[in-house]
Amino acid sequence: MRTPALLATLTFELLLAFVPLIAADAEIAAIDRAKALLASRGRIVAAVIVIEEWPSGAPSPEAFAVNGTIFVKSGGNILRAAVRSTVFNVVLASLLLHEHAHLLGADEHQALQVELDWLMSENAGDDVIQAARSSIRLEERKRAKALASSPESK
Ligand SMILES: [Zn+2]
Repeated sequence: MRTPALLATLTFELLLAFVPLIAADAEIAAIDRAKALLASRGRIVAAVIVIEEWPSGAPSPEAFAVNGTIFVKSGGNILRAAVRSTVFNVVLASLLLHEHAHLLGADEHQALQVELDWLMSENAGDDVIQAARSSIRLEERKRAKALASSPESK
């Protein structure tokens, strides 16, 4: 009677060991779908690497871009959504476009605008477009605050 229980435990542990691998594959597949969608619109973005160990100083909780490469967080909200449903391909694509814009020298406001333009051109859902718009407004308020408090403006 002990063997089946042991076997069950082993199987469970084996399963746990393979779950991260399976998840990573699904995440890479989601990235590939987003890149394919972009390519079908003539938009090519830099190489994307999905990483599990997120650097503590990363500028964003989902993705950042440096040295010609886009890094996306494994298990991040947008990537997870895109793994679950292809409806979110367009949103994941907007994340990649945003980071790619940074690689081309865009500041946060410009990168958000690239994102919004894409979502609108793809007729993404209203909620997604509203979220992108409010990110832009937030960024504008941040910028206005920074300007108001800088010594040069006084
Ligand atoms: Zn950004």
